Amino acid sequence: MPTVLRVALPLPLPTLFDYLPPAAEAPRPGSRVLVPFGRDKLVGVVVESGVESAVDGGRLKQVLRALDNEPLLDAELMQTLAWATDYWLGAPGEVCANALPLSLREARPLPAIGEEYWAIAPAGRDAHEAGSRRGGSRSLLARLAGGALSAQELNECQPGWREAARRLATAGLLERRDQAPPERRQPASTAPALSGEQQQAVAAVGSSLGRYQPFLLDGVTGSGKTEVYLALIEQVLAQGGQSLLLVPEIGLAPQTVRRLRERLGVTVEVLHSNLSEGDRARAWLRARAGTARVILGTRSAIFTPLPQAGLIIVDEEHDGSYKQQDGFRYHARDLAVVRARTLGVPVLLGSGTPSLESLANAEAGRYRHLHLRARPGAVRAPQVQIIDMRAQRLEHGLSPALLAAVGETVARGEQALVFRNRRGYAPVLLCHGCGWHAECPHCQRPLTLHAGRRQLICHHCDHRQRMPAACPGCGAPALTALGHGTERLEEALTARFPQVPVLRVDRETTRRKDAFEELLATLDDAQPAILVGTQMLAKGHDLPNLTLVAIVGVDEGLHSVDFRAEERLAQLVVQVAGRAGRARKPGRVLLQTHQPDHPLLRNLLAHGYAAAARDLLAERRLIQLPPYSHQVLLRAEAPGRDAVDAFLAAARAALPTQTPLQIAGPMPAPMALRAGRQRGQLLIESASRGALRGLLRPWQQALTALPAARKVRWSLDVDPIDLY
Ligand code: ADP
Ligand code: ZN
Ligand code: ZN
Repeated sequence: MPTVLRVALPLPLPTLFDYLPPAAEAPRPGSRVLVPFGRDKLVGVVVESGVESAVDGGRLKQVLRALDNEPLLDAELMQTLAWATDYWLGAPGEVCANALPLSLREARPLPAIGEEYWAIAPAGRDAHEAGSRRGGSRSLLARLAGGALSAQELNECQPGWREAARRLATAGLLERRDQAPPERRQPASTAPALSGEQQQAVAAVGSSLGRYQPFLLDGVTGSGKTEVYLALIEQVLAQGGQSLLLVPEIGLAPQTVRRLRERLGVTVEVLHSNLSEGDRARAWLRARAGTARVILGTRSAIFTPLPQAGLIIVDEEHDGSYKQQDGFRYHARDLAVVRARTLGVPVLLGSGTPSLESLANAEAGRYRHLHLRARPGAVRAPQVQIIDMRAQRLEHGLSPALLAAVGETVARGEQALVFRNRRGYAPVLLCHGCGWHAECPHCQRPLTLHAGRRQLICHHCDHRQRMPAACPGCGAPALTALGHGTERLEEALTARFPQVPVLRVDRETTRRKDAFEELLATLDDAQPAILVGTQMLAKGHDLPNLTLVAIVGVDEGLHSVDFRAEERLAQLVVQVAGRAGRARKPGRVLLQTHQPDHPLLRNLLAHGYAAAARDLLAERRLIQLPPYSHQVLLRAEAPGRDAVDAFLAAARAALPTQTPLQIAGPMPAPMALRAGRQRGQLLIESASRGALRGLLRPWQQALTALPAARKVRWSLDVDPIDLY
């Protein structure tokens, strides 16, 4: 049998591919190779080297070229990837694709990894002194006249600087250099004296540096978790180690980056999806070289190489954006724990509203539970109150009590936030005459009215159509908008409080990059204002003059079919409420509901998140739901229902008959039609993870071989976080 390389190729198949090594030295695992594949050439990653192939030597092809002298992915990362592939049933090539920045997946030499600096050229200095430029060019020259700045510093002090830089460089006024980042600078800001609780947390994690230990840092927003992270990252820096800090998609504000850099006095490498591919690759390579000491990033940053790992932190660990929802469906928080174990470093999961999974781990003694109960910045915790909206005359969905509270707040010169997790004007548009309502032709769900754009938009598949001028059913001239989205609340509040600026923050108003920050920057902290917005407002930017938070539309979270809906609602309420009263002024939170006696709301208000979570966990234990059982969801979709049903029936039949598993389905997905495709699913549950795992790979292989599989799009989701 020939000795071969086993290679992961960027294909959605759960297999590795065998190739004969090149004539020279065989590349080691973790190195990239260029291989022939059909008529194409593909870049793959060597997973195993020097193994015997079961394939007959005559049919094997040879690697065209080794692309790396040194493995690009080190042994630890390869081990982590293998674990993740196995656990989440990934395709090895797709897993590698998640781990490697796009431009490193091409057969090109690695880019230089010095930090990007911009400096003024002599001609530029003349232009600066003569004041011959205008606008962005002028201010960029003025900034660089004081000395070269890194791209990161420029991002912070002059958003949109690149265009001016390009113009000025073409004119010979600026120069770009790649240089090594400076050693640690004198930090521009110093840490506050830590509270007793903060010190305890820092001491607990600090004494675990150098070995694996998971911690759950439980403290509401504003309780000083970030200060704990900063103190620990400093300890790791002092020992010459690297720290990785993961934040949710929504939490990566420039504010956070600046705070880290100013405090730590080192370059903070930022890895997120908005980054240009070149920047992303360079940051990744600097981490691999060990020159990047502090790495801040969203989900996929969990794949950053950490040759000198010291600490991994996952902020807002309960956040759903850590779970990838297509392709390779991994969970970055769970992977962080696994990586920390492999690396032999502590991992710190922080949240004001920990996931029930993490709380169960803490309860079982697998994680050490640390608490921050006081809020150093605020005088006292906000006062939370329920508004019973039954039998109230509502004004655009807002109760008199809520409007009165907003009125009092702005009259005092303070700011109020009205939270509604639904964008658009109204979720339903209907005709009172004939009963016609606007529905997505591809999903059979109501279309959301976006009145400003005069459009009807499907929030499930993004189908758009013009808002009809008259009823398409009976021709009646007036249609009724039912329900209230952020756009409608904005309109209602503007009409009601004409002297006060009303700011809407949702996906529609913040579509552009940086728009969110820019919008919030228009707020004057000394002036009254009303903010209306979705989930996006739960995090980000500090609003010191915000003293009232009113949460509207709570009831939807109490009626969902998803067993996680109540956990999410509790988290959301606490997170949003946490925005009130962050500064010296006391805050107030109002919850408007038709179910003022709902046990979850009562419990949450009377005893806080921890008590509510305890009850939810007890319930999960009783009915054997995660985290006390383990789930795998097989999803399938196709244009026709028959193909979906046939595949799922065959998939069900491919499971062993004698199993301790609970199998639900085949059944239609909660959204049985989406974007014109019929959808169905099969849910497998088991009290024992072992029993489930043993079965999955063979089942996946069997599914791949099913003839019915060719007629559907299907996927397996291990530990799904929603059933849609
Ligand atoms: P979290 O990350 O839990 O939201 P932060 O660490 O951002 O909390 O702290 C919230 C605010 O309180 C910040 O403005 C921070 O500077 C301040 N703060 C945190 N810890 C202290 C402390 N020990 N003394 C004074 N101010 C503090
Ligand atoms: Zn009609
Ligand atoms: Zn649709």
